[in-house]
Amino acid sequence: MTQTQNDSQQNPAKAGVRTYTGGCHCGAVRYEATADLADVSRCNCTFCTKFGNTGNVTMKPAAFRLLKGQEHLGEYRREGSPNSRSFCKHCGVYCFGAGDVPEMGGLFRSVGINTLDDVDPSLLSYQYWDGRHDNWMAGSRSSPWPFQATVS
Ligand SMILES: [Zn+2]
Repeated sequence: MTQTQNDSQQNPAKAGVRTYTGGCHCGAVRYEATADLADVSRCNCTFCTKFGNTGNVTMKPAAFRLLKGQEHLGEYRREGSPNSRSFCKHCGVYCFGAGDVPEMGGLFRSVGINTLDDVDPSLLSYQYWDGRHDNWMAGSRSSPWPFQATVS
């Protein structure tokens, strides 16, 4: 096996679009998602900061499939927000989110990369969003955005 083949098999950031399975810790909730882990997002919004901000990969809703555990899911949504986060009511792991951000292409699903099977988060590279200021138009960048709004 060449080094390149080995690298793409071992490194999910270089694997291209693939279907991953994932789930919560206790196994009650399972899902699969088709995504490219070359594009993993972290965000500085108040929720992502509390949640631990391990990183999410986003996809169109059709690329996400809940395999089991609908009845074990709880949902958190800030009042008035189109975006929600779903967690397992047994083990408490936040698994995936759903929402609608027109600046990012409309309806989406997001999956916590820490919940995907056999994906090593230390091998991924991250793009940072300024969700704290709803600054989606600015796009993502390779370094975290500060909590304090930058004056332009
Ligand atoms: Zn669970």
